[in-house]
Amino acid sequence: MTETKHYLDALAHLGLPGDWAITVDRRPRRRSIGIEIGPAGTVTVLVPPDVPVDRVAHFVAAERAWIARNRERAQQLAPDFAMKTLVDGETFDLLGKRYHLRLTADGQPAQVDAGTDGLLSVRRADPEVMREAIIALYCTHGLDWAREHGAKYRHLTGLRGLRYAVRDLGSRHWGIYQKAPHLVTLHWPLFGLSEQVTEYVLVHELAHATNPPGTPHGPAWRQRMHHLMPDWQHRKHLLYDLGRHTWMGACQPR
Ligand SMILES: [Zn+2]
Repeated sequence: MTETKHYLDALAHLGLPGDWAITVDRRPRRRSIGIEIGPAGTVTVLVPPDVPVDRVAHFVAAERAWIARNRERAQQLAPDFAMKTLVDGETFDLLGKRYHLRLTADGQPAQVDAGTDGLLSVRRADPEVMREAIIALYCTHGLDWAREHGAKYRHLTGLRGLRYAVRDLGSRHWGIYQKAPHLVTLHWPLFGLSEQVTEYVLVHELAHATNPPGTPHGPAWRQRMHHLMPDWQHRKHLLYDLGRHTWMGACQPR
């Protein structure tokens, strides 16, 4: 029997809810017992060396209410990103407009019709090729949008020579500003959100680009945000809400 199993057996006697999926992780460098709540509400008990089984059980029992509270919070905040199936009729949101996918035998790898019919035409290919074509479409349309809307703020920001890029920024950033190339980069899934939210991220980075004194999101930066976009805090909360459910590029087999 492994040592971890001893702990788990002791925890099993506490009668904790089954869906907590509690696990024990031995941490040789820790000095005190800890509890980690994962993004989906998983519970991991962190156990330093040489801690008696009953002490771990007591600790977890005493923290029961805290665990329940924090699991609930973690689950509310957990991302639940949209999944797409690459078949006719699947919907895609791009710059405030909804499109329906239509797979075609030829034509562009991916294109949206300029008319009002809301069709996203994608040339039939391997799913990965089609997925990449759609993401590339988000990037090009997003880049046009960013340039156009960035220019709208020029008189307020006084920014000159600012450059823009749209690409995949992973899961931690919606946008970044880099001083040396004077470049604002936006995360492509941003363009699947409402324009109100997309514009918040753009303006957030523009405010960084104006180079306010102090810390990155400090008083001077906030003051610029208030000046550029009076309701920025509201939009920021919208981003938290909507951003967790948007399409980040995941596709499932048909
Ligand atoms: Zn920032």
